[in-house]
Amino acid sequence: MKEGTISCEAVVGFYLSQIEKSRHFNAFTAVFKEEALQRAVMLDAQRAQGKPMGKLHGVVIGIKDVICYLGHEVSAASNILRGYEAIYNATAIARLLEEGAIIIGNLNCDEFAMGSTNENSAYGPVLNALDETRVPGGSSGGSAVAVQSGACMLSLGSDTGGSVRQPADFCGIIGLKPGYGRISRYGLIAYASSFDQIGIFGTNTEDVALALEVMAGPDDFDSTVSSQPVPAYSKELDQPSKQKFAYLPATLDHPGLDPEIRTAILQLIDDLKGEGNTVEPVDFEYLDYIVPAYYVLTTAEASSNLSRYDGVRFGHRTKTEEDLLNFYKKSRSEGFGKEVKKRILLGTFVLSAGYYDAYFTKAQQVRRILADTTKAIFSQYDAILLPTVPTPAFKIGEKIADPIAMYIADIYTVYANLVGVPAISVPLFRHSNGMPFGLQIMTNQNEELSLLRISHQLMERINQ
Ligand code: GLN
Repeated sequence: MKEGTISCEAVVGFYLSQIEKSRHFNAFTAVFKEEALQRAVMLDAQRAQGKPMGKLHGVVIGIKDVICYLGHEVSAASNILRGYEAIYNATAIARLLEEGAIIIGNLNCDEFAMGSTNENSAYGPVLNALDETRVPGGSSGGSAVAVQSGACMLSLGSDTGGSVRQPADFCGIIGLKPGYGRISRYGLIAYASSFDQIGIFGTNTEDVALALEVMAGPDDFDSTVSSQPVPAYSKELDQPSKQKFAYLPATLDHPGLDPEIRTAILQLIDDLKGEGNTVEPVDFEYLDYIVPAYYVLTTAEASSNLSRYDGVRFGHRTKTEEDLLNFYKKSRSEGFGKEVKKRILLGTFVLSAGYYDAYFTKAQQVRRILADTTKAIFSQYDAILLPTVPTPAFKIGEKIADPIAMYIADIYTVYANLVGVPAISVPLFRHSNGMPFGLQIMTNQNEELSLLRISHQLMERINQ
């Protein structure tokens, strides 16, 4: 663009035609065609007048349908919010726009970000662009497929227990979950507030680093955001150095892990050692407690967060005339989907008197132990290497009837959210069934820069 060989308008035109071609994947729930073109024309005019270009000038971005973009529908892929328009911009969106990004549309996801396949969406499932009989993962399935199929340059998702890393793994792209509190969640529809974080999908580390740099940092509207300075991630990626990696044999010996994924990660560990890095096994006894603790705590938080959808203040309200209590019941019963209802019930149960200590308190104790254990690991190592998901992308319908199997498949991703550290899935591998899978890397709190540097170095393996 600086050289005048291409315009924002042409770029937006290109992505709109890509979106048109890939409609059947069902990744987009809304496309902001006219508006994106108008914004492109405005950016082109500003550039022609010599006005400074923002860091994301003309970068075409799609956003998960849980992030507020002023004046646009945001529904969390739920009938209870159908037709609801955002009345302000999420901080992340405001910061992208300030740097010249173009928001091209809303992206499909599991209802209220609850799920691992995108099959729990009021808009229907999303197809994996590499194999249309398979799911793209979830809950940010549309965000993953939009980038995977070349329908936008970058996309935003949210990651409460893996919803950015897992679909990135299934789709063969990069998915970053920054540490808890790195990016403001003002304007992100809440699922489980002590876990939620906005994440980024991209095809290369430079783009992901730049988007993080633009969105991260303190925000008066979200007191959970870290006040730690935000490095210029995108400028500091190129610092090759030897690392001290830990890996957890318990994760690799898990019976649910696909043997090819195990072999690929063990091979990578050998290669990394051969290149002069330290890679050491670390005992980890808590693997079996991770998924139960996650589902107790997140459903508890969800049951509280989702109580605001009462048919009065937002979205859907029942048409039948009822007394107040029945009005709430009817509105909620009609508006929420099956998975969301199940989680509200489960969360209400684990918080109820008599069960609180047995479930909620116990899960909090597990969380504390995990946090302490992880802190001890990071006092000796720069990063932890582990699989992102135990298997490559599931077939559509394969897991939906077996919720336990679906939840267990979150085993490697929920860990980072329980302890609040940054984690990424890097698309290094391919399974003999043709599907991609990733390596997951976790670093200590506030160590996104080292996470991105390590990823950048590893990505060079596939770019060569
Ligand atoms: N699959 C997990 C769940 O269903 C993660 C979801 C997420 O990160 N939003 O809760």
